[in-house]
Amino acid sequence: MLEVTGLRAWYGEAQALHGVDVRVAEGEVVTLVGRNGAGKTTLVRCLIGLHRQAGGTVSFLGRDVSRLPAHQRARAGMGWVQDDRGIYASLTVEENLLLPPKVSDRAWTLERIYEAFPVLAERRKASGSTLSGGEQQMLAIARALGTGARLLLMDEPSEGLAPVVVARIGAIIREIKATGVGVLLIEQNVKFAATVADRHYLLSQGRIVETLDNADLRRREGELL
Ligand code: ATP
Repeated sequence: MLEVTGLRAWYGEAQALHGVDVRVAEGEVVTLVGRNGAGKTTLVRCLIGLHRQAGGTVSFLGRDVSRLPAHQRARAGMGWVQDDRGIYASLTVEENLLLPPKVSDRAWTLERIYEAFPVLAERRKASGSTLSGGEQQMLAIARALGTGARLLLMDEPSEGLAPVVVARIGAIIREIKATGVGVLLIEQNVKFAATVADRHYLLSQGRIVETLDNADLRRREGELL
């Protein structure tokens, strides 16, 4: 569903991405791994339309979205689960879920969301400001599913969360995968990455230098990250 070829990006005079190729199929979970400064965040920001790509193409569901601004990419079905989670603190959980417009007929209903995320059902009337980190992450994922996004782009969904919450997020990602939604996530937690993803792109200095399976990633963790 996502096909990226030759993506290039710059910050001023400095080139951050040197021709990156990425593919994500329906129902596939793929991670971007690599050391700090490798270009993971820049890549995701280019894909969602928040950083200008200087070259290459981004094709999504067979359509060239390279020149579309962020809101039109979102409308095309590319859902961004933000790293600061983008929750409206003054709104309740339910209001946060109802706010974003639907972008496809695959939008999850509130009922389905509450079934998959019982914590959100319990806290539906609580204001965004009172949520824990794990609850915020679940709300951010649920909100993207509520729009009917066909692909979720995530920036370190496990970051700063307790192991039990990380395990729950992992289970949710596997459930999402089973519905045919694609997921592309930045992930530095190798254990987590290897339990949720099908494969891993290793970035180094703005290039994809290898594609790894779970066994490779586990074995080479120390050397790679
Ligand atoms: P991290 O995990 O630290 O976020 P990353 O793999 O996501 O690392 P990027 O943040 O995409 O890497 O950075 C890629 C390159 O672009 C690095 O060399 C970085 O210094 C540079 N860079 C990132 N953001 C900016 C910016 N706002 N201005 C200038 N250079 C930047």
